[in-house]
Amino acid sequence: MSAPTATAPADLGALVDLLRGRRLAVLAGAGISTESGIPDYRGPETRHVERRPVQYDDFVRDATARQRYWARASRGWARMTGARPNEGHRALARLERAGLVEGVVTQNVDGLHQAAGSGRVIELHGALDRVVCLGCDVRLSRAEVQRLIESTNPGWLRLGAEAGRMAPDGDVELEAGIARFVTPVCPSCGGPLKPDVVFFGESVPKPRVAEAAGIVSRADALLVVGSSLAVYSGYRFVRQAEKEGTPVAIVTLGETRGHPHAAVALDARLGDALPALADALGA
Ligand SMILES: [Zn+2]
Repeated sequence: MSAPTATAPADLGALVDLLRGRRLAVLAGAGISTESGIPDYRGPETRHVERRPVQYDDFVRDATARQRYWARASRGWARMTGARPNEGHRALARLERAGLVEGVVTQNVDGLHQAAGSGRVIELHGALDRVVCLGCDVRLSRAEVQRLIESTNPGWLRLGAEAGRMAPDGDVELEAGIARFVTPVCPSCGGPLKPDVVFFGESVPKPRVAEAAGIVSRADALLVVGSSLAVYSGYRFVRQAEKEGTPVAIVTLGETRGHPHAAVALDARLGDALPALADALGA
């Protein structure tokens, strides 16, 4: 038996009491997108899955790593673009429209907050629908790069990604045919292309961190949703809130490393808990 968690789903009342009358900074993690069919790296269901996501240094230095990345990710993209926002995303957008949200700081790269109607979103780890050239810094849309891939690898994208397990960064587990895959390069300078997301081993750009920190500073409470806070890029905002005397609330499935810092923690599905919270706060 596992130890009992601090609070049960029945404790929505404690969450509402804490957050009522406060303007929220929201810190969102992969857990909010699992109900949209995008798997979590570290959620309760995937904790046992071993996966080696591409490291930034390898991607920059090693053409084989880029080939492998683009071969797999290009097949996962169709499934990523098929994902739609869920009740949890929509509840956050509703809270923002009601003037109760200072901003959403998200660790997700799937664009689902914006698709749900959230206006002020800081994408800490970037966005999968943008691509940047490491040679000349030009920005491309992901759709444009997918077209490049299709033109140099006819039929590749139509092979489908269904057989491979997909990760939240759009990566798909597949091996067949990768050696023959032609890696897309920048149409302007021929340089290597990288999705505009923060890879493992790469830092979040400082101005982006500062913008997110500003949202946390201006808010009266920090609401963490669907993040295990396992990576420092998100956890730092819990520490910041604590330092600034701003209460922290956590709604997620399972224990997180932020729990010792939280005034209220709710172990619940976000698709249930966030709409109920928005209702209770009058959004
Ligand atoms: Zn270029």
